Amino acid sequence: MSFNTLEGGITCPFCKSEILSGIGFRLGKIAGSRYKIGDQLDWEGGDCRPKRRPSVSTIKTIGYFNCDNVTCYSWKDCYPDVQLALITVEDNVITGVELYKGKEPKKQFAILEPASLKSQ
Ligand SMILES: [Zn+2]
Repeated sequence: MSFNTLEGGITCPFCKSEILSGIGFRLGKIAGSRYKIGDQLDWEGGDCRPKRRPSVSTIKTIGYFNCDNVTCYSWKDCYPDVQLALITVEDNVITGVELYKGKEPKKQFAILEPASLKSQ
């Protein structure tokens, strides 16, 4: 499954290292694009999720990351735990990312807001 990557904006909750490898998420054109906080999402051509740019102003979606620090507590048996982040997009600009502390959604890369996009 392909995805985009958000670089920066979050630190590991266990060891406080900055997450350098980025946070994978699926919103906008899915093209392996790399974004930073403050960037606009691209919707031009290609495979978009959802198919059309939504008219709502605020979107919140789950992203996934792992800690890059191999001595971190989140690494077990040579593999890092996958951790969840919540990415906020406002008026098509990525405005924030935080640790997601809620129950893990069953659907991967879930869109939590708006409710009308939950089935995407
Ligand atoms: Zn860590």
